[in-house]
Amino acid sequence: MIEEQALDYRSDTFTKPTPAMRAAMAAAEVGDDVFDEDPSIHRLQQYVARLLGKEAALFFPSGSMSNQVAVRVHCSPGDEFLCEAGCHIFNYEQGAFAQLSGVVAHTIEGNYGVLEPEQLHGKIRGGNDHLVNTRLVTLENTHNRGAGRIQPYETVEAICSWAHQHGLATHLDGARLFNAAVATGIDVGDWAAQFDTVSVCFSKGLGAPVGSALAGSRVAIAAARRHRKCFGGGMRQAGVLAAAAQYALENHVDRLAEDHRHAQALANQIAQVDGLSLQPAEIDTNMVIFAVDERLGTAAEFAESLAARGLKMLALGPTTIRAVTHLDLPNDGATRAGEILREVAEAKLGSAATS
Ligand SMILES: *Cc1c(COP(=O)(O)O)cnc(C)c1O
Repeated sequence: MIEEQALDYRSDTFTKPTPAMRAAMAAAEVGDDVFDEDPSIHRLQQYVARLLGKEAALFFPSGSMSNQVAVRVHCSPGDEFLCEAGCHIFNYEQGAFAQLSGVVAHTIEGNYGVLEPEQLHGKIRGGNDHLVNTRLVTLENTHNRGAGRIQPYETVEAICSWAHQHGLATHLDGARLFNAAVATGIDVGDWAAQFDTVSVCFSKGLGAPVGSALAGSRVAIAAARRHRKCFGGGMRQAGVLAAAAQYALENHVDRLAEDHRHAQALANQIAQVDGLSLQPAEIDTNMVIFAVDERLGTAAEFAESLAARGLKMLALGPTTIRAVTHLDLPNDGATRAGEILREVAEAKLGSAATS
């Protein structure tokens, strides 16, 4: 019996390397990268620096590490950075900026992760022995908790130029920057141009098994290289991993448009199911977040019932579920997911009405 391909929408991190990507990994030339002698890593770093319009780039084992090293590059113990309240750096990296760097976060709540420039005004502290010194502003684009929202380009420009005028550094968590670029037609280099440092992930929608890069000036990346070693991120023959990332950049960027169409198709299905509501209603890229009406139980219970029918989605909060599209999902995924969502919701509404 041929099993139907599973529908795993929990995250775009569940993708597995394709046969062609594995072949590229197997063929990679390698060396000891702590000695800076891995040719595949050199090639990737130069490629990423050029794509993002920066002087240099550095390969990292994870996006969390590249973000946290960026915070360390820009801040010293007792410093503070400004960030959006739902961002990954603040919520999903164990407060590593505090644990590893002695740095404080000052959070500001955006609209589905999107900050307006005026929200930052007046937030800079320092110049007085009582206060922390604000040194850095971070943005996230696209925004994960914000359902893949794109921070609009004009606001990126306004926020970064305000930050630089006030002597603050800027870092972009661009784990899904390629999604923003494909969705808007604005080149990744233009999205990156305003920032001092930019991190990108290869292990999300791009489909590589591991890896991230941080790009910036030669000076910033030299400092990052030193901190990376301190954080345990010095790798040896990691060219096999860099080759996967290289393959992903060369072959899996343009196809992100398919993921965006898939997410829109899935959202259209969800919008028709009684008891489910999109949050937000507009789909920018490859994520869909929706709320589950209390008649259908908690988000965790609803997700469990979906999983029992072969549809995996992630319960984010007590009432919200996230679905992320990616290259390992089948073409008819949205239609099949829609059927399962409808059946499960109807079954729960039916039993709620008769109990
Ligand atoms: C996934 C992700 C990261 C990095 O996560 P790792 O699992 O450490 O690679 C950083 N920022 C955002 C917005 C992410 O979604």
